[in-house]
Amino acid sequence: MPERSDSDSRKLLRRLRDSLALPGQGQDRLDRITHLIADSMRSEVCSIYMFRDADTLELCSTEGLKAEAVHQTRLKLGEGLVGQVARMGKPLNTADAPAARGFRYMPETGEEAYSAFLGVPIQRVGERLGVLVVQSKAARIYAEDEVDALEVVAMVLAEMAELGAFNGDEVAPAKHTHPVMFRGGTGQEGAAEGHIWLHEPRVVVTNPVADDPLTEIERIREAVAKLRVSVDDLLSAASLDKEQRQVLEAYRMFANSRGWLRRMEEDITRGLSAEAAVQKEQSAARARMEAVPDAYLRDRLHDLDDLANRLLRILTGQGRDTGAEMPPDPVLVARNIGPAELLDYGRKLKGIVLEEGSVGSHAAIVARALAIPLVIHADRITTEALNGDPVLVDGDQGIVHLRPEETVTRAFRDKMAMQAQAQERYASLRQLPAQSRCGTITKLHMNAGLMADLPSLEHSGAESVGLFRTELQFLVRNQMPRREELVRIYARVLDAAKGRCVTFRTLDIGSDKVLPYMKPQDEPNPAMGWRAIRVALDKRGVMQMQLQALIRAHGARPMTVMFPFIAEGSEFREARDILMHQIARERNLGHPVPESLRVGAMLETPALAFAPDRFFREVDFISIGGNDLKQFFFAADRENERVRRRYDTLSVAFLDFLRRIVARCEATNTDLSFCGEDAGRPIEAMCFAALGIRTLSMRPASIGPVKTLLRRIDLSELREVIEAAMLNGDSVREPVVEWLSAQAGD
Ligand code: PEP
Ligand code: MG
Repeated sequence: MPERSDSDSRKLLRRLRDSLALPGQGQDRLDRITHLIADSMRSEVCSIYMFRDADTLELCSTEGLKAEAVHQTRLKLGEGLVGQVARMGKPLNTADAPAARGFRYMPETGEEAYSAFLGVPIQRVGERLGVLVVQSKAARIYAEDEVDALEVVAMVLAEMAELGAFNGDEVAPAKHTHPVMFRGGTGQEGAAEGHIWLHEPRVVVTNPVADDPLTEIERIREAVAKLRVSVDDLLSAASLDKEQRQVLEAYRMFANSRGWLRRMEEDITRGLSAEAAVQKEQSAARARMEAVPDAYLRDRLHDLDDLANRLLRILTGQGRDTGAEMPPDPVLVARNIGPAELLDYGRKLKGIVLEEGSVGSHAAIVARALAIPLVIHADRITTEALNGDPVLVDGDQGIVHLRPEETVTRAFRDKMAMQAQAQERYASLRQLPAQSRCGTITKLHMNAGLMADLPSLEHSGAESVGLFRTELQFLVRNQMPRREELVRIYARVLDAAKGRCVTFRTLDIGSDKVLPYMKPQDEPNPAMGWRAIRVALDKRGVMQMQLQALIRAHGARPMTVMFPFIAEGSEFREARDILMHQIARERNLGHPVPESLRVGAMLETPALAFAPDRFFREVDFISIGGNDLKQFFFAADRENERVRRRYDTLSVAFLDFLRRIVARCEATNTDLSFCGEDAGRPIEAMCFAALGIRTLSMRPASIGPVKTLLRRIDLSELREVIEAAMLNGDSVREPVVEWLSAQAGD
């Protein structure tokens, strides 16, 4: 077999490009391509398999295999050698295909006659499109330069597919035109209709094949030089701490890596344009990213991915600052996004859809605070969506309809209209108490975390802020906020509350909430690790500063503070002592101090429910943090999609546990509230109220539905239903829901 020269490869690419420029349908084009490649690679067979759906590959064109097999032969991802190439995202090269592991015999193709097999993935920045295969009768391993050449061809095919060159019913449905539904997870409930706004718009490479490699090499060198300068600029920013510097140093190392530039230059020599060479490297990094389990390595591959994006933006002038106009009803689509970037977009977003993310991620916290519907884990939406595409976001179900059919849109609008009507009904209850038919009043408070939440106090009809999470002001900055800044923020929150109580929870960091400027702790179980009050007591400076800010912001106003994640009485005592010390200090400095003070503890660890009576008598109130309490009660990670919904809040075990907490609080005359997400779910909320929890704190949007339900029912009757159901069965949910339906029929 003669050595292929780079100019062979370039010639093939040019022939390919010219052939693609000829008129014809997708099928004609593919057939011409397989013919060309087989000829140029001196192989009897060349075949192209494309994905029909996420799991199925179909033989779409062949030179050399039996023509009857085209559009008939199908393989699952991972099935046969072709399926393996698609799954691994890298080439497979064997001299004896029938003997290779995983070979699958497909009689309709007649491929048993061919011994040598080389398959390469057709992929575009991590999006699997298909597999390109050459086969020959002679048992031989394809040479390295042949593998490289075929990969380059596959890259061009991927770009051509992206540009719609093969569209047609038979081969590939036109991309980015059909309706697609994504099933992800709920990050924030709510429904939204709007148009796509991509956080990182796709860069479109219009010419993957270059005529003049020297010019292209010049271009890539210039672009890489610019990239290096921009990374150096990042590094010279004065405000970087040691950790950030280390991360950026690693990033710079990649940007300066000779291997990276060399590989791209080699691909250009084989005929790719500078942009296509960058994308080929990026595809390879993405494919490796999916395969490596090691988090550190994945982060480094992320760096490479990010650098490739920057390089593409430099080369094409496309990207974030394209001058494209944001639609009036933008739905943000991104792989992931940081809290600060999300806050920059602010309330103008109608919805948010992420490929990654988790319920407890910072982005989800911000989305929740801004009450913007959020769907997480919408796999591959960034590769499918285009700026301006119509989209429906169903945050309740965790579903996204991209370019929806008319009927879906109509049904969705009906649902939104019904929700809007319900909101109107809730508004009419705003001034009324959540008084049940038995006469019991349940106090409904709201959870907040941003200044922007405060107007909801008026709209929702909440009595006060039952939980103000103070993490966000710390999370969204690149450095520790200064005390004076916090004083201003807290004072504005209190002013906006117009005399209604705001229960400030001191900083709960650690676990999923990692401050960008604090050394990350490499802990095996961060949720059970060094977090919240544990950090505060070990590193007192931050809590002292926060408490000083809270005291100053309150001035003489009554103050309510609670400490998160208390596991035993001594932690509460220590934290309260620090608070009292700070109050004394402020007084000595001549500052006004709160005229009254309530200090509470969050009950988020089962241990605290069994604390000695002394603890219950010492606290002014207890607030059950059900999100954490439930995860520790059931040993089920609240961030793990596989297990987080597995256990029912209304299980007999959990309700019995809550009942004991209520009894202990009643016996010691301690105020009790519940502020986890479950307090905002009407069925759960009414059960908590029936068990004697008289204060519930929830998302503002939940106040209306919870109040409506509480006003309809008799809590003492419900308690009887619960008590009876607890005697048999694992969960009271079914009997409670049945009882409720019977009420509706009254
Ligand atoms: C909780 O754990 O229920 C709670 C309210 O705190 P967070 O969700 O902020 O951990
Ligand atoms: Mg918590």
